[in-house]
Amino acid sequence: MNVAIRNVRLAVQQKVADAYRGALAEAAAEVDDRWEGLAAALAQSVADAGPARSFADLVGSGACDSLITYDPAKQAGYPTPPLPATPVQAAKTDEWNRAEHLENDLRGFPAAARAYAEAARLAPGKDLAALALLAQARCQARAGDGDGAVTTLMRIAADPAYADTRDQQGRFIVPAAQLRALELLRDSDRPERKDILEALARRLTDYGEPLLPSSQRVFLMRRLQEIAPDCPPFPTLAGEELAAECLARSPLSATPSALTPAGIEGVWQLASPDGHAVAFFRQQSVVRESERLLSARAALAQVTVTVLPPGRALAGRPAFLTAPLGSRLAGWQVALQLPDPDPFAAAARRQVAAYVWTGFLVIVVIALAALLAARYLLGQVRLARLKNDFLATVSHELKTPLSSMRVLVDTLLDGHYRDQQQAVEYLQLLAKENLRLSRLIDNFLTFSRMERNKVAFDCQPLRPDEIVNEAVESVRDRFESAGFKLDVEPSPGLPTVNGDRDALVTVMLNLLDNAYKYSGAGKRVRVRAYGQDRNMCLEVQDNGIGISRRAARKIFDRFYQVDRSLSRNAGGCGLGLSIVKFIISAHGGTVQVKSQPGKGSTFTVLLPVEKG
Ligand code: ADP
Repeated sequence: MNVAIRNVRLAVQQKVADAYRGALAEAAAEVDDRWEGLAAALAQSVADAGPARSFADLVGSGACDSLITYDPAKQAGYPTPPLPATPVQAAKTDEWNRAEHLENDLRGFPAAARAYAEAARLAPGKDLAALALLAQARCQARAGDGDGAVTTLMRIAADPAYADTRDQQGRFIVPAAQLRALELLRDSDRPERKDILEALARRLTDYGEPLLPSSQRVFLMRRLQEIAPDCPPFPTLAGEELAAECLARSPLSATPSALTPAGIEGVWQLASPDGHAVAFFRQQSVVRESERLLSARAALAQVTVTVLPPGRALAGRPAFLTAPLGSRLAGWQVALQLPDPDPFAAAARRQVAAYVWTGFLVIVVIALAALLAARYLLGQVRLARLKNDFLATVSHELKTPLSSMRVLVDTLLDGHYRDQQQAVEYLQLLAKENLRLSRLIDNFLTFSRMERNKVAFDCQPLRPDEIVNEAVESVRDRFESAGFKLDVEPSPGLPTVNGDRDALVTVMLNLLDNAYKYSGAGKRVRVRAYGQDRNMCLEVQDNGIGISRRAARKIFDRFYQVDRSLSRNAGGCGLGLSIVKFIISAHGGTVQVKSQPGKGSTFTVLLPVEKG
């Protein structure tokens, strides 16, 4: 059994493994498609929306963790290149130089603030004017005039003329002024604070033109999150930081449409087919996305799917199956764990149980078929035996009266009789044998029809006393001449029964015949008809030899005789009571016997009373 279970277990395991291997191959193809589609989408997005906006879209929506784009013409991509470390020296005016002197050398901040304001007014360009105002605000703040500083900064932010102004490193001045104002208003509840915060946050999430340099954006985002806890998080900040980290690492080399290590621990990169865009993914993002794709497949719903980056081992239960995650993720594996520690053993046990049950059922079916065949054969054997018995009985029973009749006829023909009286006696004997022969033949014919189911009853309402009288009258002479005392209580006026007259008379004749044959010394027979409950009872009672309890159970069987030689001598063939039972059953009735050996027997036929 154990070997059987082990073999079935292996077979089941093989089957399940094949099924899962197929499902994993399909899943891997889907994972490949996913990354290939993403690579194509990168190129498309950059072409449609431009580098900065596609960065905002793809990183902001979580399609990738970061993105670096290169312009094919080597112009602007995103993130923008780092700003120069040292500012471009601007041509400063006399007023500007005076203000710087006041601020830095004399530390006269109020005077310096006024001088910067004058420098702003006299500045040759908007950039310098905005820068002078920024310096004015700085001096106001240093002079302790925070409100004045904020007002100056808000003037820069509010004036559309300064919208695009930049400092010598290329940084935009308005967001810098807004940040400075927020720093000054850090713990203030002045209503302007909220407006400035919103305006600056909007500017930082705006990836349109004029484009904020990446390094300034990252700096402002980080600083804003430090000084303004009520500022909502920036979804692209982490992406900006990751891109800056990746850009710092050179050279960038990515295989188009394949996920390869980005050169930073735990970061993977995917290049667009044209190589102009490289998306970056943190390892967890790749694992999460791949597991999402795999778990969505119905075929893998029953198992635990774990995506394993290169070099990562599966924790916990051993994997039932591992397979490559896809051709675009070199070295990545997917591992399947089954829910049950050993589901194959259970499946194998179930399978073996199914085999055992099937085998058992087959055996049961075969046994049943054999039983039916045996019953059929037995029936055939019994039928053959019955035919033999019947033939033997018929020939024997016919022979006895026929031979005595022949002897009597021969005696009469040869004139071997004393006188007329003896001749009459012989003739009476002849008549008796003739009657016996007729009754035998009647019984044989009835039995034969009965066996072939050819008996047709002609039913009609019958009065019980009619049946009793007809039967009694036809035997009366025989009984009386043999010295019997025949008591008849037909009880006229009883309800009718529905039956075949000849058949029911035959029943009574057979019962009377038995009473006659087995009367022994006591020659008294009583015939009664009476009602009981919803039945009509016809009863023949004798005080003859009686029947033992054991024999009484068999006397209604065909050819059964308690004492064969006695019955044969009495002219019986073992069919009378089986004919009685057959006829009465066909009439919906029953036949009972009560008997005591040596004291006599009472046969009672119960027939249902006709409804009406
Ligand atoms: P048979 O033609 O031999 O009488 P039956 O079927 O009529 O066959 O009866 C079966 C057997 O039952 C008889 O052989 C006899 O032994 C027993 N039997 C039937 N009626 C009586 C009875 N009134 N008294 C004693 N034995 C009887």
